[in-house]
Amino acid sequence: MLAPYACDPAHSRGRRFIQSPAPTRTEFQRDRDRIIHCTAFRRLVYKTQVFLNHEGDLFRTRMTHSLEVAQLGRSIARSLGLNEDLVEAIALAHDLGHTPFGHAGQDALNECMASYGGFEHNLQSLRVVDELEERYPEFNGLNLSFETREGILKHCARRNAEAINAKEPNGVAARFLNGTQPSLEAQLCNVADAIAYNAHDIDDGVRSGLLTLEQLQDVPLFARYHAQTLAEYPSLQGRRVLFETIRRMLSDQVYDVITATRAALDIDAPASADEARQCPPLVKFSTAMHEESKALKSFLFRHLYRHPQVMKNTDGARAMVQDLFVVYLDKPQEMPAAYAQRNDVPRAVADYLSGMTDRFATREHARLIA
Ligand code: MG
Repeated sequence: MLAPYACDPAHSRGRRFIQSPAPTRTEFQRDRDRIIHCTAFRRLVYKTQVFLNHEGDLFRTRMTHSLEVAQLGRSIARSLGLNEDLVEAIALAHDLGHTPFGHAGQDALNECMASYGGFEHNLQSLRVVDELEERYPEFNGLNLSFETREGILKHCARRNAEAINAKEPNGVAARFLNGTQPSLEAQLCNVADAIAYNAHDIDDGVRSGLLTLEQLQDVPLFARYHAQTLAEYPSLQGRRVLFETIRRMLSDQVYDVITATRAALDIDAPASADEARQCPPLVKFSTAMHEESKALKSFLFRHLYRHPQVMKNTDGARAMVQDLFVVYLDKPQEMPAAYAQRNDVPRAVADYLSGMTDRFATREHARLIA
């Protein structure tokens, strides 16, 4: 069923620690299963995507976001002959390194770490699966296969890429230094991530009352399907109008990616997963859809992510992360022993803090500061 350009688990570049194959599962199925059972994955339930966890039960969390990315990714992977298990593993793990409180937490921790090597959430997702999970007797981390780790490390500053590459020559960071692409499965997860958050943030934005359907008429990608929906169902009311519009938006973006990617694959015709890595990015939107997706993203940025009501909550969250960072740096003994005993205190604090759920961070803040 796999296309020649797909990642084949039988030809995986393997794990950092050699393990014998599983009797019934492929290497990428095993990776997916390890991710689902790890602690960091369960924490995603209580980590903010856009709206803070306590603001409402129906808003997306990092967990439901990751599941939606996996669903969209698998659906596209199947029709392109890509490896669905690998796509699912990458999608479920792609946000494991996110801090509590969404982007505000992220930015705050990054600022706190500015003079200690910085903080990047993609790199942190890799640290979680490579180092921080403690589940096996013989090694740290989950010992995932190269292809899953390659997909998790979606972005990385050159300085960090050089550091990783020094420890793991020609490994997961090499592509940031030599300008090649990750696997098509990894490329697909990036596109599926954008499709997922653009759609669900409209849904959550309208549910929260911060976005209106009138405002969204300024977004061509939304307005087109909204008009289609009303033309077909003139008497449709309320949420069903929104849901039908989003459903149409999602479907068209999925079909657009499939069509544009097939066209790109026809031109470059990679004969293997490694050849695909040497090509320009092949999993992509058409030019027109790319522009519309970008316009939607910038609309959400201006009208939702920077909405005064969202900012008010995130300002509080930012202060909480900053306060906790200062306290742990000063009193490492307030962290669990495994973190308190590490030599690189700032990095230990960043690892501990970024692993927290929103509500655990809030409780720690109340315990140590308030
Ligand atoms: Mg994401």
